[in-house]
Amino acid sequence: MKKMLFVANWKMYMSFGETIKFATRHFDDFVSLASGMIPPAEGENTIVLCPSSMALYPIIKMFNETKIKIGAQRCSPHIYGAFTGQDPARSVNEIGCSHCIIGHSEARREFRLSEEQVAQKFVHLLDYDVTPIVCIGETKEEFDSQKTLSALERQLSPIFEAIKTKTIVHDYITPYIAYEPIWSIGTGEVAGNQHLDMVFCWIAEKISKNFENRPAGGAVPQIKLLYGGSVTAKNSKTLKKIDKISGFLVGGASLDFQEFEKIVK
Ligand code: PEP
Repeated sequence: MKKMLFVANWKMYMSFGETIKFATRHFDDFVSLASGMIPPAEGENTIVLCPSSMALYPIIKMFNETKIKIGAQRCSPHIYGAFTGQDPARSVNEIGCSHCIIGHSEARREFRLSEEQVAQKFVHLLDYDVTPIVCIGETKEEFDSQKTLSALERQLSPIFEAIKTKTIVHDYITPYIAYEPIWSIGTGEVAGNQHLDMVFCWIAEKISKNFENRPAGGAVPQIKLLYGGSVTAKNSKTLKKIDKISGFLVGGASLDFQEFEKIVK
């Protein structure tokens, strides 16, 4: 049985106080969901909760010594310096996050991130032993005009190039690429399995082509793939049938514990 990753992206749906209340109310639920999901012999699934940045530290403390992992929703493309309002990958590691979402379409839009900045974040996270979850996806216009793959190529290429310049990629870190069609996020619209199958196979092939000739000494990163975009308990059953998917990035549905539990189960 495949190991699956379930990422709850709480976005900015809850304030600091509401986040602490929600996590406290469902502490036992989350802990038992993470520990009882799959018998160990069949491999362990992982749940990552991603609160907004102000709530990160108390949530990390709360779930310390449980199987729940905590992820940040952002990090800076810079390492150090005069960047008011930003936090570097180093802090994401020091605070105790195991994962970090980068390149989310909402952040790309809001902060006008370039592809290169997303790639820089990716590499800094790897440098600081934080698992990057990098989001890629096409707009509705690109989807309608069959430009999905060229949009994904544009987003993936700088990331692959950045990885290739790294001499060491620790094999204990498995970076994730989350395919999230932008038109699917928060809209209730989900692409058919045929489209998703095609896209996931294409990404998987890109990964193997890019890294099959990596020079000796540089480890080949074990990149895994997630799907995100209006995942619900109902559609997750069908989405789980897509061979290359190793988990889900869940936004809106992760705010309802019972719904999130059904997705995981
Ligand atoms: C997301 O936050 O990445 C996301 C996919 O949101 P939603 O599940 O609400 O579409």
